[in-house]
Amino acid sequence: MNFLSAFIAIMGPPNVGKSTILNRIAGVKLAIVSPKPQTTRNRILGIHHGDGYQMVFLDTPGIHDTRTLLHKSMVDSALATLQEVDILLMMIEMGHPDDPAIPLIVRTIHQVGKPCLLAINKIDQGPRTWLLPIMEKFGKQYPFDAIIPLSALRGDGVDLLVREIRRGLKPGPQFYPKDMVTDQPDALWVAEIIREKIYVHTKQELPYSSAVTLDRMERLPAKEVSEDIPRKGDPSARASRKEILLIAAKIHVEKDSQKRILIGEGGRVVKAIGIAARTELEQKFGLPVYLDLFVKVEKNWTKDSRLLKRLGY
Ligand code: GDP
Ligand code: MG
Repeated sequence: MNFLSAFIAIMGPPNVGKSTILNRIAGVKLAIVSPKPQTTRNRILGIHHGDGYQMVFLDTPGIHDTRTLLHKSMVDSALATLQEVDILLMMIEMGHPDDPAIPLIVRTIHQVGKPCLLAINKIDQGPRTWLLPIMEKFGKQYPFDAIIPLSALRGDGVDLLVREIRRGLKPGPQFYPKDMVTDQPDALWVAEIIREKIYVHTKQELPYSSAVTLDRMERLPAKEVSEDIPRKGDPSARASRKEILLIAAKIHVEKDSQKRILIGEGGRVVKAIGIAARTELEQKFGLPVYLDLFVKVEKNWTKDSRLLKRLGY
C-alpha cells in the first residue's frame, strides 16, 4: 500500500485557536498559546503520525490587516506558507463568525485555490444552535471539503477533523521520521515559552513590544547540587541531579518605560515570568533549570527591518 502524506496550513483570524489545535493534533505543546491575539509570530510545524500516513501541519500567525512592520512580516510569513502546502485548514471561532479578517482570508483561499476544510472552533462557548447558520453562510463562500465544528481546547471533534483530512491525503513520501513531532529547535521553543509567559504576566502593548533571544543554553554537570542534598533510594531524583540546564535569555523591549514595567517593583514582574518559564522548562527537559533573564531596550525594534531580522522575524 502507498504511504499517504500532506502538508496542511492552519489559517484564520487571530486568536481563534490555531495554535491550540496544532498542539492537540501533534500531541505535545509546540506552539505557545495565550488569550491575547497575535501571539504566534513564526510558522510552527507539527507532525501527526498515523498508520500508513503522515500529516504535517503548519501553524501560521493570524491573517489580518497590518499596521506595523512586525505584523506585516507575520502576515507575509502566513501567506508564504500557503504556497508550500497541499491542503488548507481554515479556522474560525463559533462566537465570532464575523471577524473583520474573514473576508480577506476567504479571498486568499480563492486565490490559492487548494482543497480547504473549515473548522468552527470553541463550540464549548455557546449553544449548538449557533452552528447551523454559520455552516450555511460559509458553505456558500467556498467549496469546503468539510465543515467541522470542534473544541480544540477540550478535544471534541478533533478526531473527526483528522479523519476528514485523511480522506484528502494523496500518495506521498514520509517526510519526517516517526518519532519527530516538530522541526523546531529546542532553543527556539525555549525562547517562545519565555515569550508566552510575558503575554501572561504583562498587559497592553508590552507583549507586542517584546522579543526573546537566547544567549546561552547548555547542560552543565551539577556536582555541587547533587552532593549538597543526596536523596537516597530515589533513582529518578538522582538521575535528574547529574546535570542542570543553564539558560541565559534576553527580553528585548522598545522603550525605557517598557523595561521598567517588565522588571517591575523590586524585579517582581520579571521574576514571575522567570518562575513560570522555569517550571515549564523543567517539566519538558526533566532537569533543574537555571534561568537568567536580562531585559534590554532595543529602540523601536518592531519598526526596524534590520532589527526584526536579527530578532528572528
Ligand atoms: P491562535 O491565535 O489562533 O493561535 O489562538 P490560540 O491557540 O493562541 O488560542 C487563543 C485563545 O483561545 C487561548 O486562550 C486558548 O486557550 C483559547 N481556545 C482555543 N481553543 C479553544 C476552545 O476550543 N474553546 C475555548 N473556550 N477556548 C479555546
Ligand atoms: Mg497562534
